[in-house]
Amino acid sequence: MQDKIESNLIWLMLIAIVLGGFCGYVWGEKMHMVAWIGDLFLTTLKMLIVPLVVASIITGVSGLGDVRKLGRLGGISVAYYASTTLLAVTIGLIMANLWQPGVGVPIGDIAEVSRPGEISFSDIILSFVHPNIVAAAADMKLLPIILFCIAFAAALTTLGETGKPVIRFFEGLNEAMMKIVTWVMLFAPIGVFALIAANLGKAGGGEAFMAQLSGLAAYAATVISALLTHSILLCLILLFVARRAILPYLKHLASALLTAFSTASSSATLPLTMQSVKQAGVDEKATRFVLPLGATVNMDGTALYEAVAVLFIAQAYGIDLSMSEQIIVLVTATLAAIGAAGIPEAGLVTMVIVLEAVGLPLEGIGLLLAIDWFLDRCRTTVNVLGDSVGAAVVGKLTEINKTSG
Ligand code: ASP
Repeated sequence: MQDKIESNLIWLMLIAIVLGGFCGYVWGEKMHMVAWIGDLFLTTLKMLIVPLVVASIITGVSGLGDVRKLGRLGGISVAYYASTTLLAVTIGLIMANLWQPGVGVPIGDIAEVSRPGEISFSDIILSFVHPNIVAAAADMKLLPIILFCIAFAAALTTLGETGKPVIRFFEGLNEAMMKIVTWVMLFAPIGVFALIAANLGKAGGGEAFMAQLSGLAAYAATVISALLTHSILLCLILLFVARRAILPYLKHLASALLTAFSTASSSATLPLTMQSVKQAGVDEKATRFVLPLGATVNMDGTALYEAVAVLFIAQAYGIDLSMSEQIIVLVTATLAAIGAAGIPEAGLVTMVIVLEAVGLPLEGIGLLLAIDWFLDRCRTTVNVLGDSVGAAVVGKLTEINKTSG
């Protein structure tokens, strides 16, 4: 029964995306009239995030039973995040070097485009903590909440009987939140339709979109092909490391991936990602820990995109980046992706770190703005795919570790 609802929903969402694209293409700005429906869907998803993350991390970590197991789970997760993000940036760098999408692009009067806010490496480290956990929750700053909840759950596991009722409370909260997610999913096709139609309309409709795309065609093609290449590699990791058949897993993930594409926010998609990965049968202990953390720090698509974008800007300005400068791009793009929040266009802001590290003009970001609303959706989808494959990998590897003692 659940399977039938799931597969009907996926079809409905696919139809909604095509229909939304068609309406946005043809009627352009007039589709603004459905924007509120998209906002309603997005805001409802966001409303679930904080309680879901809190309950999920606390039950996930306390369910491990022993703080040492947390170290193992955390270690495997971080190794997965770091290696796949570095892989993504490497693919981005290779493609941008081969295709040279920025060569000959006119830089014209982009200096007039407003510069994004300044952000530095230390800002990323500082964003791991927050002076007030309630304010962090109110501002949806997930990383401090996650770290707090990991510490809180680890402490609960050391309290014996005293900790048990608290853990049971959060187990109930977690179940209730997941139930609400299944209800909100029923609303997804309408929400997805409205988001796509209104956003394409806001970008000026079909003709304006085609003009934006043709102006930056080589750049968009490089980003999209690199994202596709990385997605294929992620599927191979799913097959060979997590030992899961690719198509059935992707089928379960479809609603989350389509929502990521429609919302351009991996945080807003998180409730659906958790539901999808759970339905795909991944060990819940891994899901509850790996997905919230992954949605916040593991962004393969964003890292890859930042690498291509920075090389594109360098090429447009006629600046040749040496091998060692490209290695700096590799490292800083990885950090910038960790620092990017799971919200629309966050990658544009953290890209400043990469540009500054190799001394490129920040105004170069202006070159990319026209098409970013679209590429953001593509990279967010890959971010969510990376997190979901990560949950399967960590689930599998911790299972092996369990049996081997
Ligand atoms: N929108 C992306 C996400 O939510 C972040 C970004 O690359 O801008 O995952």
